[in-house]
Amino acid sequence: MTLHEGRYHIGGADALEIVERFGAPVYVYDAATMKRQYKRMTSAFGNVKRLRINFACKALTNLNVLRVFRELGSGLDTVSIQEVEMGLLAGFDPHDILFTPNCVGLDEISEAVAKGVRINIDNIEILEQFGARHPEVPVCIRINPHIMAGGNSKISVGHIDSKFGISIHQVPHVLKVVSAMDLKIEGLHMHTGSDIYDAQVFLRAVEILLSAAADFPDLDYLDFGSGFKVPYKEGGIATDIEDLGEQLGARFNEFCGAYGRDLELMFEPGKFLVSEAGYFLVKTNVVKTTTASVFAGVDSGLNHLIRPMFYEAYHHITNVSNPTGKTRIYNVVGYICETDTFGVNRQLNEVREGDILAMANAGAYSFMMASNYNSRFRPAEVMVLDGQAHLIRRRETMEDLLGTQVELPGM
Ligand SMILES: *Cc1c(COP(=O)(O)O)cnc(C)c1O
Repeated sequence: MTLHEGRYHIGGADALEIVERFGAPVYVYDAATMKRQYKRMTSAFGNVKRLRINFACKALTNLNVLRVFRELGSGLDTVSIQEVEMGLLAGFDPHDILFTPNCVGLDEISEAVAKGVRINIDNIEILEQFGARHPEVPVCIRINPHIMAGGNSKISVGHIDSKFGISIHQVPHVLKVVSAMDLKIEGLHMHTGSDIYDAQVFLRAVEILLSAAADFPDLDYLDFGSGFKVPYKEGGIATDIEDLGEQLGARFNEFCGAYGRDLELMFEPGKFLVSEAGYFLVKTNVVKTTTASVFAGVDSGLNHLIRPMFYEAYHHITNVSNPTGKTRIYNVVGYICETDTFGVNRQLNEVREGDILAMANAGAYSFMMASNYNSRFRPAEVMVLDGQAHLIRRRETMEDLLGTQVELPGM
């Protein structure tokens, strides 16, 4: 968001005008930021011959966003058959979609096979069942290297007690299954979890996957997942993607030399590609002074953006309506009947009733985790393309809320 002649802009579009046109609360995504992040990633790994970025679409699954990534040449990482279907609807080639489910039944995996997408399997029992049902279909295997990334167990998925992946210690067992069933393993995958900012930790996990890869002769790709962190605050900590690209790219090329073939290097970032592209604009309903704090109560809550309450995530907040007002300290809270805090002790330009506040880093896992709790409508979504704002999801209505309810006769 940039301040230009006293007005805040997102991707060149005036933020307050967006609210006037589409109402609040509203999610706004700047397509140019998504493109910038995608290109940062491809140029960071420019030293690798075959590179594929699969956008982890659970972060933001609007069809128009998927199409932005398809046009950039991205593939898609999907975790449900519904995401697979949306990827196909958005025009992705099935071969460019990787299905990486966890704890789904074989039937859902078979549906994905029928649609022609690539399959990633994260459990030996399912691998055996898969081999029996689809003996001719090549698969990828998700390995858990047991590297602890980040400090929060809600977002770390590679540690010893994680439900994700086949333990690296079970590779000998996997090899027996592969050989007995004559499976074709086309890829190895790992995803150690969100929030990796230490290239050395990442490279340790990479080494573990590479040592396993040497035992699989039919590989076409290695997928190192994601976990790339973006800054949430000015000067905040972030993955140094350029440094990682240089080091990992060199190591990967060396491995390909020893392996005897140029494998494809894959990543599946979600947050890195879309987090910074999104802003969540909300309207201030009340300003309430209590004995200890000043609360700015807004027309939204954890039903629309659960990350602060769920992950203790920090979303920077700006008063878009009063860029030059004197600053005061606020607790920004929602209207849900629960403790429902967006930010504590935030210094904001004076907030008045009706002011529009913008929450940053609202592109990833924000709208997608929204619910109808308290029977509230989910917000609209807007995408800014070449400086123009376009509605890409309308706000819900009472019909949407009631659409799936079945009323019993005589009640
Ligand atoms: C969620 C997820 C990702 C994306 O993670 P980010 O932290 O958003 O980059 C990648 N791969 C898999 C398998 C995932 O489940």
